[in-house]
Amino acid sequence: MLRPCVNGRGNPRPYKLGCGEAAPEQQNAECEVKIGILAVQGDFAAHAAMLAELGAETVEVRTLENLDGCDGLILPGGESTTQLQFLQEEGLFDAVKKFAADGGVIFGTCAGAILLATEVKNPGQASLGLLDMTVLRNAYGRQLASDVFFGSSKLTDSPMEMVFIRAPVIDRVGAAVEVLAEYGGKPVLVRKANVMAATFHPELTADSTVHKHFLELVRAGARRATSVAR
Ligand code: GLN
Repeated sequence: MLRPCVNGRGNPRPYKLGCGEAAPEQQNAECEVKIGILAVQGDFAAHAAMLAELGAETVEVRTLENLDGCDGLILPGGESTTQLQFLQEEGLFDAVKKFAADGGVIFGTCAGAILLATEVKNPGQASLGLLDMTVLRNAYGRQLASDVFFGSSKLTDSPMEMVFIRAPVIDRVGAAVEVLAEYGGKPVLVRKANVMAATFHPELTADSTVHKHFLELVRAGARRATSVAR
């Protein structure tokens, strides 16, 4: 029998058989979560495949209705200008801001990171302003325009594979933003409360560390989690 449990956003969800006797915290850890993935263009399918492997339900988001009932949201790579226009045209721009304000967990990769930043340069463009950082679009120059590197992160002891594709540079982060990984002296994976951004593409590797961390945040209710230091 499936019993309801309440996840970080207060949404009732069925949880897996066998966790009925667990303590409330463990019940939350076992909760099924629904992750929306903005599916306008770019590599949304790769995120869906990785999250499905990790046992999460995913839904492609193109309308306000698609976002309904989601606990987490992925803003994938692609072209941030195109995605921004789509969000604005479909009424999703304000809906995504409200989703974050209500505690929904958001993870933006590359173009998605650009959409999340408070300040976008090179050239400037509007953004959701959900993560206090300044990003410079396409700013890594030719040698790092599109390539694979290994860098260190706070999420795992092993070197993390980082695929950069015409990535933005995170040029500044606010004091409250935690830098989870760096490459070449610049932050490449950052988080503040329920909003996380990577300038690289973890969904294009076999390493699911970053997506696992995202799902942990979703399951825990990220507003309560202030640091991943461990
Ligand atoms: N260069 C793209 C932009 O500025 C981002 C590239 C990507 O998402 N891989 O929007």
